[in-house]
Amino acid sequence: MIESADAVVIGSGAFGASAAYHLARRGLRVTLLERAGLASQTSPRAAGLTSQVRATPALTAIARRAVVKLAAFTEETGQPLRFTQSGALKIARTERDAGQLAREVERGRAAGIEIEFVSIGEARRRLPILGERGIVAVTWSPTDCNVEPSELPLGYCRAAEKLGATLLPHTPATGFEIGAHGVEGVRTPHGTIATRIVVDAAGAWSRLVAARLDAALPVVPTRHQLLITEPIPGVGREFPIARVIDAHVYVRHERGGLMLGGYEPDPLQIDMEALPPSFEMSELPLDVEVLWRLAKSVAEQFPIFQDPAIRIAEHRGGLPTLTVDDRYLVGPLPGVSGAWVMSGCCVGGLSASPALGEAVVEWIVDGAPALDLSEISTARFVGRDLDEAELRERCRHAYATHYRADPE
Ligand SMILES: Cc1cc2nc3c(=O)[nH]c(=O)nc-3n(C[C@H](O)[C@H](O)[C@H](O)COP(=O)(O)OP(=O)(O)OC[C@H]3O[C@@H](n4cnc5c(N)ncnc54)[C@H](O)[C@@H]3O)c2cc1C
Repeated sequence: MIESADAVVIGSGAFGASAAYHLARRGLRVTLLERAGLASQTSPRAAGLTSQVRATPALTAIARRAVVKLAAFTEETGQPLRFTQSGALKIARTERDAGQLAREVERGRAAGIEIEFVSIGEARRRLPILGERGIVAVTWSPTDCNVEPSELPLGYCRAAEKLGATLLPHTPATGFEIGAHGVEGVRTPHGTIATRIVVDAAGAWSRLVAARLDAALPVVPTRHQLLITEPIPGVGREFPIARVIDAHVYVRHERGGLMLGGYEPDPLQIDMEALPPSFEMSELPLDVEVLWRLAKSVAEQFPIFQDPAIRIAEHRGGLPTLTVDDRYLVGPLPGVSGAWVMSGCCVGGLSASPALGEAVVEWIVDGAPALDLSEISTARFVGRDLDEAELRERCRHAYATHYRADPE
């Protein structure tokens, strides 16, 4: 058993694996604790999509940096990653959403990200399965991309290990030693690891881990699902990602078929404390009817999902953590020196993890990140206690309006 480390990272999903890699790259002796198998919980179940034009310049800069790092992932880490720069179409079916797209085009251009309005004909040329009806406006972002989600955290784990990090799967963090100057150690069933730095990247469990550090983390684990069809003739690898704003539905190519996922108005929220300690994401109850309802809501744009011949090859789901303002929750854990958190992924953590891991490590090691993280920092919730019912309702709302997280 490892007796001491410069830093202990809790969780080997996209957030924790990226933090461990970037810490190891800066020369720290890192131990990565994972209660289950490496990178086995929410991260490998993601859709793997990026979306670069965000609500503010700071959020856009994070998303953009992440895409640069995803594109260079294999070169940087030596690990495989299926990376497809498919581009993305975003579809408005209402005048209100067309207005949102106009603001996105403006913000994208200001940030130097390629994005433009295209005609419905041009959108259909790129995505021939797109129906013509009910569309008011469409934008095209050629540099958006998707990755194979399972490869990203595993790649970061392996790259961290090559840089000297110790990976301990099936080893939960069970408690902490906290002294007058902050964190002094992390307890595990096999002993305590002395350390002055701990990163809580425990995903759906991050609130429970923070509670053991006496910190309140306002996040709610929220079920998100997608389906992948069997291969469909005519569906091509070159198909871009497509998002329908008001329906909160996304579609992309996967393995010769189509992936469809989306955000229902009343998602299942999970209290992790009520689950047995042995709970695995593969045991999460799924509900495919949610996805069929979402598919029906875009029947005019994606009539292909109404074809009775469509067969599901894979249906998966996980528990991203939501915050009340639909933004990540990253930074020093208030009140506990040496404790850091990467949580509040808001269903966008996989794609952002390369930039967030890099930035949080700069914050830990250099005292400040190169990117502006103030809008996603833990500091924004200090002194703002929400009761549980209000927290849940505001996180539900953030989830249900995810594609409309746009300042008007
Ligand atoms: C269907 C679906 C589609 C998605 N689509 C996208 C997308 O297109 N783009 C995107 O960017 N994101 C997407 N996401 C979100 C993405 O999956 C998450 O943002 C990301 O995986 C969060 O990573 P994480 O490291 O926080 O969580 P996880 O991957 O769950 O990792 C947390 C880890 O911490 C471990 N852990 C917990 N407690 C302890 C403990 N006490 N000790 C040790 N280890 C512990 C857990 O076992 C787990 O392995 C999607 C998610 C789902 C479910």
